[in-house]
Amino acid sequence: MPKQTVDSLIHAKWIIPVNPNNRVLLNHAIAIKQGLILDILDSTLADKTYKSSKTYRLDSHAIIPGLINAHGHASMTLFRGLADDLPLMSWLNNHIWPAERRWVSDEFVADGTELAIAEMLLSGTTCFNDMYFYPNITAKMAHKHKIRAQIMMPILEFPSAWADNAEEYIHKGLALHDDYRNHDLINIGFGPHAPYTVSDESLERIRVLADELDAVVHIHLHETEQEIEEALRQGGERPLQRLDRIGLLSPRLQCVHMTQLNKEDINLLQENGCHVIHCPESNLKLASGFCPIAQLMDAGINVALGTDGAASNNDLDMLGEAKTAALLAKGVSRNAASVPAHQALRMATINGAKALGLDASIGSLEANKSADITAINLNQLIDQPIYDPISHLIYSTCGQKVSHVWIKGKLLVEQGELTSLDTKALQYKVVEWRDKIRIAENQQSMQF
Ligand SMILES: [Zn+2]
Repeated sequence: MPKQTVDSLIHAKWIIPVNPNNRVLLNHAIAIKQGLILDILDSTLADKTYKSSKTYRLDSHAIIPGLINAHGHASMTLFRGLADDLPLMSWLNNHIWPAERRWVSDEFVADGTELAIAEMLLSGTTCFNDMYFYPNITAKMAHKHKIRAQIMMPILEFPSAWADNAEEYIHKGLALHDDYRNHDLINIGFGPHAPYTVSDESLERIRVLADELDAVVHIHLHETEQEIEEALRQGGERPLQRLDRIGLLSPRLQCVHMTQLNKEDINLLQENGCHVIHCPESNLKLASGFCPIAQLMDAGINVALGTDGAASNNDLDMLGEAKTAALLAKGVSRNAASVPAHQALRMATINGAKALGLDASIGSLEANKSADITAINLNQLIDQPIYDPISHLIYSTCGQKVSHVWIKGKLLVEQGELTSLDTKALQYKVVEWRDKIRIAENQQSMQF
């Protein structure tokens, strides 16, 4: 039998397909053709069956589906470390919102997003959800660097450099949705910022439009105790009840944070098939509370993972986030068996794909899915001994061990280096921003 020609053949010591759950394939290979996974088979058989001009032999590596960061604000990476050790509302009111009013522009979003994309690719993330001003620029940068992205049109009642009011945010967002209607890597959804920044009228409009366009809705929700108290004081209902009254609860709704949940809330999420995006490090850093993910998953609710912006994390490392999620779940539920390593890995991959409505094409390594693949090199002394590579990936390694990344079969990281992004030029731009922002912030604090 003549060998079949494929575009790439990746041999690896361990392949962790994620579906089926908790499986590790030893000495297997992935054959890629036209951006899709054609086959996953034993390495010896792969050499007999396929020929490829690009063959990778990753003898000390674990291969997983590309990681999916289901919540973030990419360009806020330029605010990394700007304001630490503060609770959410003073962090937002006294630092982040003033800094955003001063600095956010198309140029800021372009450079900040490029920095975030570099960090995400280098740490194995192949798909990210983003909610921020200038989503047109975020989309442009994702397109330029060939990373998969689900980008939310931001919607608030407040003016920003991007739009003056909810109507304008929606108007510009719809135009963007149109621009990317048939894009292979990018799709656009609705991003009402939070219940406390968006009116009933705007939320109703979003529901109608999202239904019409079959688009996702992504919202910061039940993030702090204060948010619930204020909502009850002002309208007599919990934010989730309010969204239910407006008709927004559906399998297209991505609820970010959810640290304040009672039994009725969990029932509402479950009955309506809503997704929860858990951001454990951001919640810990801002002391917002704990999302009871073990309880949610026991109720059959899909829980995905997000880093949130680098200003409240302060990195975009999804393997690190999965470790925090696993450890925190054990502490919160007082049960060491809660969220085992393979479940944490699912949260960072297939559960993210489900939340984003993309699980037919990404989130696991299976024939006919897109070749969005991350390889982690476990060859160093510090990585030894390895009994279970899934345990290792979650509890012992971090994104810095990522060696190769493919998106739709295209190699974007090779031997820990970006293949097509000019890191020197980017570093120069980032330092320039740091110097500008630092000088202004210092002057401001001296005035007070
Ligand atoms: Zn956020």
